Amino acid sequence: MAVDPHKHCKWCGASIPVEEEFCNQKCRDAWQDMLRRRKRAMMIQFLMVAILVLILLMGSALRG
Ligand SMILES: [Zn+2]
Repeated sequence: MAVDPHKHCKWCGASIPVEEEFCNQKCRDAWQDMLRRRKRAMMIQFLMVAILVLILLMGSALRG
């Protein structure tokens, strides 16, 4: 017996129609909130690495 084509909510994993991405607005909001947070975390990480590289470059420039 074939299973009806379906997807799972990106957030909570509930079965949803293939044309949907989330089972309700709450899951959509939670998902987008998580994406925003992850983006900010990545930006902070990038800044920290950039600052570290800058400090290292400045350190070697002072010594050189
Ligand atoms: Zn959901």
